[in-house]
Amino acid sequence: MADNPGISFERISHPSPTDADSRAQALTNPGFGTLFSDHMVSIDWDEAHGWHNATLGPRVPLTLDPACAVLHYAQEIFEGLKAYKQEDGGIALFRPEANAARFNSSARRLAMPELPEDVFVESVRQLVNIDREWIPLVEGGSLYLRPFMFASEAFLGVRPAKKYKYLVIASPAGNYFKSGAPAVSIWVSRDYTRAARGGTGAAKCGGNYAASLVPQAEAIQRGHDQAVFLDGAENKWIEELGGMNLFFVFDDGRMVTPPLTGTILPGITRDSLITLAREEGLDVHEERYSLEQWRDDAGSGKLVETFACGTAAVVTPVGKVAGHDGEFVIGSGGPGQLTQKLRQKLVGIQRGTVEDRHGWVTKLR
Ligand SMILES: *Cc1c(COP(=O)(O)O)cnc(C)c1O
Repeated sequence: MADNPGISFERISHPSPTDADSRAQALTNPGFGTLFSDHMVSIDWDEAHGWHNATLGPRVPLTLDPACAVLHYAQEIFEGLKAYKQEDGGIALFRPEANAARFNSSARRLAMPELPEDVFVESVRQLVNIDREWIPLVEGGSLYLRPFMFASEAFLGVRPAKKYKYLVIASPAGNYFKSGAPAVSIWVSRDYTRAARGGTGAAKCGGNYAASLVPQAEAIQRGHDQAVFLDGAENKWIEELGGMNLFFVFDDGRMVTPPLTGTILPGITRDSLITLAREEGLDVHEERYSLEQWRDDAGSGKLVETFACGTAAVVTPVGKVAGHDGEFVIGSGGPGQLTQKLRQKLVGIQRGTVEDRHGWVTKLR
């Protein structure tokens, strides 16, 4: 697709940026996903010009034609990554080039144009740079970045759109969990699946999330925190949560995570933890694991820990699993040792307190 080497961002000045006092006030308790920084990046794509009209300007509402394709056929993809304040006062991004690559693989699946990876990374850098004061200084705080792209053409026919908009917005986030990560209780969805073979499970698209809301609401209504999905063909193999990948830890030093067969989102946290766990001497396998086996292994004590992972909450221990045919507890029901160790190591690399041996951290100039 259109390759625009050296795309440059036109700077549009903000007429009324948030004053320092109001911002400081808002940042004392940012929560997640409700507070936004002052600016955004916007780039347009059409067939004639490729990627063009790149701007870094005030965050403003969009005006869309009611026939805008995304509103009808959900041609939309997104990414999620964080900017961190490091111990030395600098600002860092964690593996942004991996988000850029995944964004393009999502784009291909949704029949959208690819964005050059260097433009993706540069867009994120530009936004973090201008809104750097929006990184909360509370412990565990970060600036959550949301790059996304949608079909912006006004057209009701069913085909890939001929116009797209790429935007990046930023939302200050507090510590996802106030004191460390408490173990969550998860509900095994029986009546719904997240993805099927040949579907969009491996793409980070809004439509996958829309389809997960009913099972997620069912989990909450039954008193659990998250829904876990089984495979669509046999309703047997564990896949992932609505927005987090899963790992299983055994008493013999083995660790298992479901394989990337097209129905699971290839998490960057998942990939990083596989590397870190191998460094810790664990024997990590990407292989199928069934719900039945999970229950048996938890009962026999062979399975000692289970955790979920993703950018937003990093590593979350799973304490209890419930389904239509009963429930079982993992280990002692609280955060496991390895879960905590891996979490600390990953967070340490992101914050600059643990050596970054893999070149995962990109520091802002
Ligand atoms: C984003 C996402 C993840 C986690 O990916 P990270 O890159 O680790 O943040 C896992 N599952 C789903 C369905 C997701 O959308």
